[in-house]
Amino acid sequence: MRVVVNPLTRICSTLCRGAGGAPKVGSLIGHADRKLNEYAPALGRAGALPRAATERETMRIERIDLYQYRLPMVRPFVISSGPMTQGHGLFVALHSEGLVGWGECPTTPSPMYCPETTGTAWHIASEYLIPSMLGADIEETQDLEPYLGRVRGHHFCKGMFDMAAWDLVSKRDGLSMARKLAQPYPEGAKERVACGWAIGIQGIAETIAAIGAARERGFQRMKLKIRPGHELALARAARLAFPDIPLMLDANSAYGLEDAPIFQAMDELRLLMIEQPLDCDDIYDHSRLHPLIKTPLCLDESIHSVGDTRLALALKACDIINIKPGRVGGWTEARRIHDLCRANGIPVWIGGMLESGLGIAAKVAIASLPGVTLPGDLEVSYMHYTLEVTEPIAINPEDSTITVPTKPGIGVEIDPAGLAAAIARHESFVSTKQVAVPEISR
Ligand code: MG
Repeated sequence: MRVVVNPLTRICSTLCRGAGGAPKVGSLIGHADRKLNEYAPALGRAGALPRAATERETMRIERIDLYQYRLPMVRPFVISSGPMTQGHGLFVALHSEGLVGWGECPTTPSPMYCPETTGTAWHIASEYLIPSMLGADIEETQDLEPYLGRVRGHHFCKGMFDMAAWDLVSKRDGLSMARKLAQPYPEGAKERVACGWAIGIQGIAETIAAIGAARERGFQRMKLKIRPGHELALARAARLAFPDIPLMLDANSAYGLEDAPIFQAMDELRLLMIEQPLDCDDIYDHSRLHPLIKTPLCLDESIHSVGDTRLALALKACDIINIKPGRVGGWTEARRIHDLCRANGIPVWIGGMLESGLGIAAKVAIASLPGVTLPGDLEVSYMHYTLEVTEPIAINPEDSTITVPTKPGIGVEIDPAGLAAAIARHESFVSTKQVAVPEISR
């Protein structure tokens, strides 16, 4: 049953219900706790005590709220495929047992970065995924995969539900999402994660000024977006102005193999890496470019799954992989890619889509895994947006890190006023029936 509600009314209602190779580079949750959760005023107030694994319980997805958000930007963010003028995506809230798990789909209005848009994500979520999983019983996040697997592609949309499931089960267990994700690793989650700053395409003087301003805010690793024609002059000017900063370039698939001499000319600039120079769906040509350049080569848009990762490693197409949880369909698949890369000595880092504070905090959680060894695109949202939907996430300027949240779930509190101001569309979906796990061939 679908119910269309006033966004502000529903948000307040929701919040009151509870919280819910050879690389070149080196429950006791009883009735009382449930009542506490039910009346917790904001996200993260799960109020749950850590529970032993044997006490975990199946959670039925009782209600799903889908929101479209818009976040005004401090300034347009320009990459090789075009400008981004507004934060534009979806939030989802999975309700179960008085807890709420939140997910974010950081898409764009147009298919300039990937085939998905905010519109396609709403369509897939509301017409296919939500009807499929309403009433489903899950114990762990992997239990959601058969429902998500009924839809091919649409990874950012599916990643939103997977993120919400991680938030939900982490709250049930009284664990931070970082600790929940890190359970398979003896060393556990890191306490701080290294972050970097991404600078959109602009003039050389403006770029140099932006690097200086970001350093003053505490960011050390700088990523410059590039496009054909200005990349060499830009990179040389940045290196000359800042001889010692960790500096990398991101081409967002703007080049062809015939442009190899451009990247060879960058070998002398001591770049941390060049990210995704060739086509967004290409792995083979990257494997041909790889031996031609000395700068470490990183794949981003080409990696949609652990299968793509396996192919890239087999072809020696890269030295580094940028894992965007949304791009690969969620945190569950992102952790599989992390594990594969770690087993093969391939450094990884966590990329970004200019998420809200909610998405940033969820990315911080996976960036805390032991195989994530390079600074991620974990820009604090106030650097890009004039509106926040969560409490601000602070950077530790002394070491250019973000402290990993320790509260249950994603671990940041939602700002009800900020969220209400950001929401442009909202639908609530409820069901009273249990659904069977779908049978699919994988
Ligand atoms: Mg990139």
